[in-house]
Amino acid sequence: MEMSSDRWSRPEALRLLNLMLTGTLSEIKPKYNPVTGYEYCSELSREGILSCREALALIEKLVEMGVLRKELHDTVASCRNCGSEVFIVRATCPYCGSLNFSKGVVIEHLVCGYIGLEEDFHREGSGKKICPKCRKELKQQGIDFLKAAKIYKCNSCGDFFSAPSLIYRCLGVWV
Ligand SMILES: [Zn+2]
Ligand SMILES: [Zn+2]
Ligand SMILES: [Zn+2]
Repeated sequence: MEMSSDRWSRPEALRLLNLMLTGTLSEIKPKYNPVTGYEYCSELSREGILSCREALALIEKLVEMGVLRKELHDTVASCRNCGSEVFIVRATCPYCGSLNFSKGVVIEHLVCGYIGLEEDFHREGSGKKICPKCRKELKQQGIDFLKAAKIYKCNSCGDFFSAPSLIYRCLGVWV
């Protein structure tokens, strides 16, 4: 009891309450820093609240009293082992794990069943699309060939996939 009345009497707390009452500070959003994690202090200090720790303690108190409301700002992934939210993300082929794949428009030649990236169907010089398997010219989309956009082709195993697998490697940086 003594501690909380002590908090209320500080000018910092009064400034914070004043900012809230006048609507200058209607919500305090966390800022994300990949090394130090979430912090609220930069927004508070911009409003002239210099003792962030005291202000946050007061805010916690106001949340307890039901004056302020906490809202979920963001959901982030965190490491199961150490809780870090800093990762290296690698996109890989879901079949063989290779990092070597290309993204592009995929063509299926209905005449022979060949499936490949659009650039494999071009013949040097001419603008014509020639199937690299049966050497026939592609005529009309939907009739003798089909097109699918934004498909990945693995350059290692040759498989096609619509989205690469994401592999997260924890950097072990603590929040
Ligand atoms: Zn970790
Ligand atoms: Zn063909
Ligand atoms: Zn692969």
